[in-house]
Amino acid sequence: MPADTVCLTFDFDAVSPWIHVGDGRNTPTNRSRGLYGAEVGAPNVLDFLAERDLPATWFVPGHTIDSFPMVCERVADAHEVAHHGWSHTPPGDYDSRADERADVVRGIESVERLTGSPPAGYRSPSWDYSEHTVDILLELGFDYSSSGMAREFAPYRARRDAAPADGPYERGEALDLVEVPVSWARDDYPPLAFSGDRGYTPEPAVFADWRAQVEHAPDDGVAVYTMHPQVIGRPDRLAKLGAFVEHAREAGATFAEVGEVAAGADV
Ligand SMILES: [Zn+2]
Repeated sequence: MPADTVCLTFDFDAVSPWIHVGDGRNTPTNRSRGLYGAEVGAPNVLDFLAERDLPATWFVPGHTIDSFPMVCERVADAHEVAHHGWSHTPPGDYDSRADERADVVRGIESVERLTGSPPAGYRSPSWDYSEHTVDILLELGFDYSSSGMAREFAPYRARRDAAPADGPYERGEALDLVEVPVSWARDDYPPLAFSGDRGYTPEPAVFADWRAQVEHAPDDGVAVYTMHPQVIGRPDRLAKLGAFVEHAREAGATFAEVGEVAAGADV
């Protein structure tokens, strides 16, 4: 059965991930990959979505909003804008809760300047959480996050779990924060972006797998696809994504923003 709902999501990282990455990878050439995303990939993706009347959610670091305001205004005019850190630092990399919280607050301020309102949704840079992330999101009023992987196609409520090294895993209570789960199997970056230690998967295989996932998802499922303008925003890849969209539509799937899914989730 096809997934009922497909969420096309775009993590508009631009140059931000390269600035905070270690290992000497913050170089002009690496940053140029992000420039492609901001100056070419994102406009291509916006045109693609407009031509097909497709909703989408863009998770945008504050650094991208503040660095590339014109293309971000185009994003905000057409689509949901959600939070993706200010600096795109993975939460586990902060030295303190205060430092992590300050970056989230700064990211909210950037989104507010762009859209006029605070973001309802959050996606962690690198999809990781620190032990503080859920509390910070609750404290700052987020309605949902799209970073967890405890389910494949079903939204669920985030919890504060404990994982002591010397005892069993402890589940916390369900919290007032909806998780709309992601999957590495529906992310363009690992198969299609050369990353030093990772190769490159033949593109037809990637899109065939994405089709299979829509076909095999439960009929009330939500399939979140995570893409990056610097990866997917090339004409040949967008043509393949267009064929995927047609296939999903013919299979009965509808397309929605993540915020819409989270607001309607009965969890
Ligand atoms: Zn990102």
